[in-house]
Amino acid sequence: MEGDWVTERDKDEGFAELDSQEDEAMETNMAAEGEDELLSCPRNTVFYTLPLSEAEYVAQGKDFTKEQVDGLLKSQPYQRKISTCHLCNQCWYDGKFDADCPECGGFALQRPCPICNGQCSNIWCRDIKSSHSFHEAHWDGECGLPPAVRQVFMLQNLTDSSENALSEGMQDLSTR
Ligand SMILES: [Zn+2]
Ligand SMILES: [Zn+2]
Repeated sequence: MEGDWVTERDKDEGFAELDSQEDEAMETNMAAEGEDELLSCPRNTVFYTLPLSEAEYVAQGKDFTKEQVDGLLKSQPYQRKISTCHLCNQCWYDGKFDADCPECGGFALQRPCPICNGQCSNIWCRDIKSSHSFHEAHWDGECGLPPAVRQVFMLQNLTDSSENALSEGMQDLSTR
């Protein structure tokens, strides 16, 4: 039986055109005789381990402890990767940003309090996830000024932007 198998393989290599026929013949043989399944084992093993998926699966943390995963998340390469602007590719982690880019918003990973323009000296941290998903800088933090004073600043910010809109509107009118 083993001799037969060897000759079949030899033919395989010699006549490429007959490959599919030979394979079919071999498969029927193996299905019919249990003993031949042993012969097919090495081939199957080679076939199933060839794709990289198994190695990739292991690398994806199946055997990692929580500490190792935490370490990976805190590692510099990972932080650099997520702390990079999707729009302009500047790396916030390195303190870089594009002044005209909405996702950067004029700052890297931190900025002075945007409510009072830094008067309270609180530092706000970039909400990296939201910045990416909205393509607009998002910040986490709180204004350190007393609520009453803070409200004045917030109103001022509001009126600032509406005054701009108003004066733009006036310009439109005056040019007509
Ligand atoms: Zn950017
Ligand atoms: Zn503030």
